[in-house]
Order: sequence, then structure tokens, then C-alpha cells
Amino acid sequence: MRHFTPTNGQMMVENVNLSAIANEVGTPAYVYSAATLTRHYNVFKKAVSAMDALIAYSVKANSNLAVLRLLAKQGCGADVVSGGELARALKAGIPANKIVFSGVGKAEPELRAALSAGIFQFNVESIPELDLLNSIAVEMQTIAPIAFRINPNVCAGTHEKICTGRAENKFGVDIADADAAFERARNYPGIAVNGIAMHIGSQIDNLAPFASALTLGAGLIERLRAAGHRIETFDIGGGLGIPYHAEETAPPEPLQYGELVHRLTDGLGLKMIFEPGRMIVGNAGVLLAKTIYVKQGGARNFLIIDAAMNDLIRPALYDAHHDIEPVTTPAADTEMVSYDVVGPICESGDTFTQNRQLPEMQAGDLLVLHSAGAYGAVQASQYNSRPLVPEVLVSGDKFALIRERPSMEDILKTESIPDWV
Ligand SMILES: *Cc1c(COP(=O)(O)O)cnc(C)c1O
Repeated sequence: MRHFTPTNGQMMVENVNLSAIANEVGTPAYVYSAATLTRHYNVFKKAVSAMDALIAYSVKANSNLAVLRLLAKQGCGADVVSGGELARALKAGIPANKIVFSGVGKAEPELRAALSAGIFQFNVESIPELDLLNSIAVEMQTIAPIAFRINPNVCAGTHEKICTGRAENKFGVDIADADAAFERARNYPGIAVNGIAMHIGSQIDNLAPFASALTLGAGLIERLRAAGHRIETFDIGGGLGIPYHAEETAPPEPLQYGELVHRLTDGLGLKMIFEPGRMIVGNAGVLLAKTIYVKQGGARNFLIIDAAMNDLIRPALYDAHHDIEPVTTPAADTEMVSYDVVGPICESGDTFTQNRQLPEMQAGDLLVLHSAGAYGAVQASQYNSRPLVPEVLVSGDKFALIRERPSMEDILKTESIPDWV
């Protein structure tokens, strides 16, 4: 599901030439395709259409207001993990009754804000959170609709740092303690139980972990119902993987995933909630960068580019792979060279890839890191006083800056020197 293909020797995003964006906005910059975003959402929607489904896009994957608005216009809901994300989702026009709130550490002001907004559901992750939410709801004279996020102790087989459904992870209520948690909630005046939630990890590349989690969830629901609990929703989280390598076998298609969920929950009369993030935005964006230097090191060739780990941390944080491609299609006789592609930051971890075979590049050449739409811009920082990377949205033959690059003046005006220094 790639839509960033060279036409007449130039890499295009929809009908816009990436060189034109580099000229106007500068580099590095994230560039997203509106058509691809919408298409991914609709592929997912179709895949779950046999069920009563709420698609709550995981805002943390890419929280730009323009991206959220685009999805809101398609009828998409939101899964938020902070008060800030809640504010964004509401501002983008996602109705409160399509918002679910996940996260292990929801703070009191965040719970209050979500109660005031009237969100669809709190995915409660612990007993202390349940107790606090109940007392706030009672004080506000309202009732908080909740699901318990259950930790099913399922290994998602993904990278350590994005596996969330094992007993040793911080997320959710242990499945062995679930019955007691529902019992406790039963008599709380500020709580109304909707159902259960699970989110077992991210970039999951096969269906088996989902099948395990769904089977455990369905069993738990039957047990809870037998104990007299009203269970109407099952939130199965996000986590469906996407292809990052053009050459390798791709993770399961959304359609296969949808069929699995349907098969394992059919007949339970549930409203299913899905929280896809990466699947919607990951392959809808690239990071556009420019070669600063080509340097012959002692043992390696370094391609030093103007994007760095502060702009895209996935390779440093998750050992993630991003396909890299020049914006201008190289001549057929261009030599292939083995490069370490690195950024300017003063850390050896600021390395996007090592020993990657790429067409020979020159200083000034533009290139893209593919599949950078999810967990890219949202994790960017200003480390090394590098201004936050801008974001651009393309639709057809138009494009717009949807997050600007702050000037050094903008950055410095947030800091001050006390007069006693
Ligand atoms: C991160 C997250 C998601 C989205 O995961 P993807 O792998 O991007 O689909 C969904 N739900 C919760 C609770 C999350 O923390």
C-alpha cells in the first residue's frame, strides 16, 4: 500500500513533486498523502463492516489536526491516551461519543476533562484508576462509562518495546483479576460498565496473537455475563502490522484480520471497537530529507542527511527499518553503494540504517524514508536545538503546510533567564 512512486524520474506524492515541496518548505519535512490516508481508513472500515463496529483511530500514531480532521470527515472516532490528545480529537471535530480513552496513568484533570466532554468509554487499566474515576464522576454528578482493559498475557511476537499484552507489561488489569475488578465496579454509583478492552501490542505481523486474545476475551465475556454483568463492548485495540520492506512478505491484510475478529466474536451480540493507528497512517507518509555530505569514513561510507533521530526516532528506539529512496530516479548506469545513512546529531544512535545498498548519492540530493507516517512526527523532539520537523499534507495537485517549522526565535522565547542568574 505504497503511493509514493516515481513518475518521469521524480518521486511524486499524489500529483505533487517532492522537489517542489522541498523548495517551498525546506527539509527535513514529513509529507502525507490525503488520498492514501482516506483509502486506508476505508479499507479498514470495509474489513470490519460485517460487525457493529466503532473505529477509534489511535491518535498517538499521528496526531496532526489536519490528519484528524480528514479522518473525522470519514466518520472515524478516536482512541486517545492523554488530555492533550482528547483536546486535539475534539478540536478536529471527532464527536465525543466516538472517543475512547486508554492509558495506564490518566491523571485527575484528564479524567475530569473526558467526563465533561462526555466520551464514549474510559478503558480503565487499574483498580486505583477505577476508584478515582468513580469518585470524580459522583462529585460531578455524572456516570463514567467504562471498559476494563484486560492484560491477557499474550505474546504479540513483536519488538520488546511495543509488546503490551504480557503479564510483565504495565498495561491493563491482569486477566486473573478481571472478575474481581468487575465485581468492585458493579456497586459504584459513578461507574457504568460497557465491556472489556485489550491492546496487545503494535506492528503485529501475524494473526495468531489476535486469535489468542480474542478467544480469551470471548471466554471472559461469557463468564462475566454468567455472573450477571452487562457486557456490550469488546475493544480489541490496534496493532495490525504494516509492510515496511518493499521486498518482504507483508503482514496480514485488514480483510483477513476483520474476518478473524468476526469469526471469534460472532453470536456474542457485541459492539466491537477497533483502535488502528499505524495501519491507517504508517504508509501514508514519508520523511523527506536532503543529503548534506557523503563522507568516506575509516570503514564505512556515510550518507549524512539533514533528518536525524530527533525527527524520526523509530530506527534508534525500535531498530526499525525504513526503505530509503532518492527523489530523483537515478540513471540506469548509476553505481550501487553501501551506505550508513546517518543524521547530524551527536550520538552514534543517530543512524537510520547501516550498510544499505543505495544508488550513489551526491551532496544536495533529496531522498525519502518511506513508511514514516506513524510514530514519526509525533515522537519528534528539538534535541540538539533542531527545530521541530514540519508536516505537509498533499491532496491531488495541492499541498499545505499543516505544522510549521518553528524559528529559532520561537524556540528561544519559551525560555527565560532568572534575574538571579
Ligand atoms: C498505540 C495504541 C494503539 C495503536 O496501535 P497501532 O499499532 O498503531 O495500531 C491502539 N490502542 C492503544 C491502547 C494503544 O496504546
